Amino acid sequence: MSKDTLCCGLTMVAVMRSVYSEGGVLIHDVPMLVCPTCHHHHLAPELELDFIMLAHHAETDGVKIASLLEAIGDEKVTRVLNAYPEDERYRTGRRVLPEQVDSLLDMINMAKSLGDDAWYRELLDTLKQFTSWSQVRTR
Ligand SMILES: [Zn+2]
Repeated sequence: MSKDTLCCGLTMVAVMRSVYSEGGVLIHDVPMLVCPTCHHHHLAPELELDFIMLAHHAETDGVKIASLLEAIGDEKVTRVLNAYPEDERYRTGRRVLPEQVDSLLDMINMAKSLGDDAWYRELLDTLKQFTSWSQVRTR
């Protein structure tokens, strides 16, 4: 799997969204990868080319609304959705899982022992963010 599918130390989760192309075409049924921790999201890399082609054709034809699912078929979309299944964060509504904090602490120790100050501070900021997000949960 490419680096693009990881965020906050875990694999991102695929969800169906409607998005606008750069040319202003509304495209429905687009599998987007979402990070349940920081809410960063982008198009599933496997479908980037399909999306660009569909958007381009729609723009050329003057079509304002299109469906990626209709354009490329169920099978391909389902394959992408299955490759990035819902994880514990989605099921439980927790933004940060203990294993994410564990691996972050490991990396902080590593940065410290390497004397990499910039990385160390960056990781520390992430840890602060993780901590504030995990406290958001209501008791
Ligand atoms: Zn993230």
